[in-house]
Amino acid sequence: MKILFLDQSGKPGGAELCLLDIAMCHRGQCLVGLFEDGAFRQLLEENQIAVQILSQAAIGVRKQSSWLAGLKSVRQLAPLIAKVVHLSRQYDLIYANTQKALVVGAIASLVSGRPLVYHLHDILSLEHFSSTNQRLAVALANRARLVIANSQASRTAFIEAGGNPETVHVVYNGFHLQQYQENHNQAKILRLTLELQEKFVIGHFSRLSPWKGQHVLLEALSHCSENVVAVFVGDALFGEQDYVQQLQSQVDHLGLRDRVTFLGFRSDVIPLMQMCDLVVHTSTVAEPFGRVIVEAMLCGTPVIAAKAGGALELVESGETGWLVTPGDVHELADAIAHCQQNSTEAAAIAQRAQHEAQRRFNLDTINQQSAHLLASKALKISSSK
Ligand code: UDP
Repeated sequence: MKILFLDQSGKPGGAELCLLDIAMCHRGQCLVGLFEDGAFRQLLEENQIAVQILSQAAIGVRKQSSWLAGLKSVRQLAPLIAKVVHLSRQYDLIYANTQKALVVGAIASLVSGRPLVYHLHDILSLEHFSSTNQRLAVALANRARLVIANSQASRTAFIEAGGNPETVHVVYNGFHLQQYQENHNQAKILRLTLELQEKFVIGHFSRLSPWKGQHVLLEALSHCSENVVAVFVGDALFGEQDYVQQLQSQVDHLGLRDRVTFLGFRSDVIPLMQMCDLVVHTSTVAEPFGRVIVEAMLCGTPVIAAKAGGALELVESGETGWLVTPGDVHELADAIAHCQQNSTEAAAIAQRAQHEAQRRFNLDTINQQSAHLLASKALKISSSK
C-alpha cells in the first residue's frame, strides 16, 4: 500500500510523533509531504522515511482563524494543492494528519480520485477551533473514506459537530514498549546533572502554551512543601512567546526561582520521565489524547492528569494515576502532597499503570489495527482475499 502522508507542521508535536510511528511501518512505500520545513523533517530523515517540503512558507491560517483569513490563504494553497494532486497519482491513498493537510488533501483527492484518510488528532470544539474552521474540517472530513480519531473524546466531538459516525474509528497512539526499559543509571545521572538529588521532582512535559497549563502547576507548586521542585520539558512550538514571558514573571512573582527549571525541547523524554518522582499533566481544556500521560505510565512514574477529554480514557483515578479538575490549583497541590506522602501507594499505582499502558498501547498491536482499517475501509480490500 503506497501512502502519501500530509502534515502542515515542520515541528515535532504529538500528531507528528504519532505520524512518525505510522510512517515507519510504510517506510520505502510512502512519502511524507510537509507544508513547512523544520526539526520534524530531520526526524523523518533520520528514520529513513522519504520526506518532501511542499510549501516555501507556512500557511497563515490558525485554528481560531476567521473565514476571511481562510480566504486570503487560497492564493497560497493553490500551488500546494497542484503539487499534491500531481504527487498523489503515484500513491494509493492520501493520508491527511492535520487540519490544513485535510483541506489540501481533500481537494487533491477530489481531483486525482485517490481515496482520502483523515487522522483526527483534535477535539473539534469551540474551545480549540473557530466555528468556521470546525465546520470546514467536518465538511471535508466527511469526504474521507476513513477518519481515524485518536480517542473516544475526539470521535464524540467530531460526531457532535456533524461528522459521519460511519467513517470514524478510534485508534489510540501506540508506543515502542522496548524503549521504556528502565535505565536507573541514566535517570540518576540526569538528577545529578540537574542537581535534584534530594528533591521531590515533578516533571511537566509539553510544549509551552496557555492551554497546556504550565501556569497551573507553578501556582500549585507555591502551595507545596519547599523540597518539591518542577522541571518543565518543552518549548513554545507555535510562537507563544508572550506566554513564556508570563511564566517567567510568575516564577519570580511566586519566589520559585530555585525550585523551577525550564529545559526547553528535549529528545530524551523517557529518561527524563524516569528521573521524576511524579509527572503532572495540567491542560486547562480537554486534551484530545495526551501522549505524555501514556509515556509517564510506561516509564513507571506516577501521573496526575487533568480530568477531561482523552485523559479520562487513559487514567482511572486512584487505580492507575490521579485525575484532578482542570485548572484547580488547590486540588492539584493536594494530589501532589498525597503522592509525596504516600510513596508506597504511589509506587503501586505507577506499577499498575505501567502494566495497563503496556497492554493497551503497544505500537505493534496499534499498527495492525491501523493497517486493517486502511486496507478494509480506505482501500476497501475485503478480508477474505
Ligand atoms: N515531547 C518531546 N520533547 C519535549 C516535549 C514534548 O519529545 O521537549 C513529546 C512528548 O513526549 C509527546 C509529545 O511531544 O510525545 C506531545 O504529545 P501530547 O499528545 O502530549 O501533546 P500535543 O503536542 O499533541 O498537544
